[in-house]
Amino acid sequence: MPQFDSLVVGGGFFGLYTAELLRHAGHEVLLCEKEADFMSRASYVNQARVHNGYHYPRSFLTAVRSRANYPRFLKEFPDCVDRSFTQYYAVGRHYSKVTARQYYRFMRSVGADIEPAPPRVRRLFDFDHVEQVFVTEECAFDPVLLKRAMVARVEGAGVVCRLGTRVETLHQTAEGGLRATLETPTGAETVEARHVFNCTYSQINALARRSGLPVIPLKHELTEMALVGIPDELRGIGVTVMCGPFFSIMPFPPRGHYTLSHVRYTPHFQWEDRPGERTLDAHGVFDRAEKTTSFPYMVRDAARYLPVLTQCRYVESLWEVKTVLPLSETDDSRPILFARDAGLRNYHVIMGGKIDNVYDMTDEIKKVLSGKAMDA
Ligand SMILES: Cc1cc2nc3c(=O)[nH]c(=O)nc-3n(C[C@H](O)[C@H](O)[C@H](O)COP(=O)(O)OP(=O)(O)OC[C@H]3O[C@@H](n4cnc5c(N)ncnc54)[C@H](O)[C@@H]3O)c2cc1C
Repeated sequence: MPQFDSLVVGGGFFGLYTAELLRHAGHEVLLCEKEADFMSRASYVNQARVHNGYHYPRSFLTAVRSRANYPRFLKEFPDCVDRSFTQYYAVGRHYSKVTARQYYRFMRSVGADIEPAPPRVRRLFDFDHVEQVFVTEECAFDPVLLKRAMVARVEGAGVVCRLGTRVETLHQTAEGGLRATLETPTGAETVEARHVFNCTYSQINALARRSGLPVIPLKHELTEMALVGIPDELRGIGVTVMCGPFFSIMPFPPRGHYTLSHVRYTPHFQWEDRPGERTLDAHGVFDRAEKTTSFPYMVRDAARYLPVLTQCRYVESLWEVKTVLPLSETDDSRPILFARDAGLRNYHVIMGGKIDNVYDMTDEIKKVLSGKAMDA
């Protein structure tokens, strides 16, 4: 039976990054991805924002961690980011959970650059609905370039990669190792590893359930990102209206279009994994779900704030399950989930709420490898 030091389940950005880290620590690593390609699920279908704190005026910790991770991401992946546009954050006049003054002061308190937007940009907004517009410093990542960079790194490091290979179940062996059954293109296989890292995002509990392991509370949403062609006035501009039932429009580098998302219409429905209750296979829910675009609702509402949006041209929609921690509901925070020994010795669960959270994960992995206790 093949034996590895570590098995990484899931070839999204977090799985690839974890696999490389483990390999550099001297582990023989097997990385299994059930889809035909790496980074084809949430790591591709997302808004591609490299967060720099501006999205989190209600969570000091997430804003501060984003600000710490942003320059690290730009430094590590300079060729995978699109900095060709300026990101503007507006604050809604009605229904916003923060005022423009609170927003400005909060961003200053976390050290973020923030200034009122210039008149040529302000003119695009309807100030009956928007209280203030700020110019900020934020960019987008290109998930296709990021995938290429990460796959080259992982393969260069000598990680054994298996595409089209689904990890079905995990069990502890009598010797204290972990045995995994795999569903591969050529049939079922079994492998053993000392450590297993479950980096399957929305599928974390699907693997746990099949293996009789504890369920981690997670909230899932079926989400739609509308890809749109933009009018000339919006070229070189990204806009996010905070902080409530508003919207974002910004470049999606791999397609050359913009993504339009709306807090009210992007999630089509939601469900939760709760310990003690039956959990659903999130990708199974995704496959069965009816996917009818909400673009007309998104654009009609968003155009009240940014009237030029009526000239957007709908191209198509990208769909994916978005997974967050239920605790994030209150303050919209995006901490990393790192559950060590999550029901079996040396079985660890990792879920990054956003791409730059990989840097919050690396310390935890290093602690696992050095056998140190986790922080309380
Ligand atoms: C609509 C939306 C918008 C978002 N916007 C942003 C944003 O603007 N900025 C940002 O930073 N973050 C954003 N995010 C969050 C970001 O996309 C995720 O944090 C990140 O992609 C998670 O990476 P991952 O590797 O954990 O998950 P994934 O990329 O989903 O990777 C998990 C992989 O595990 C595989 N898998 C599942 N089960 C198994 C199994 N049993 N065996 C083998 N393989 C398996 C899956 O096929 C998948 O490829 C957004 C997410 C969504 C859905």
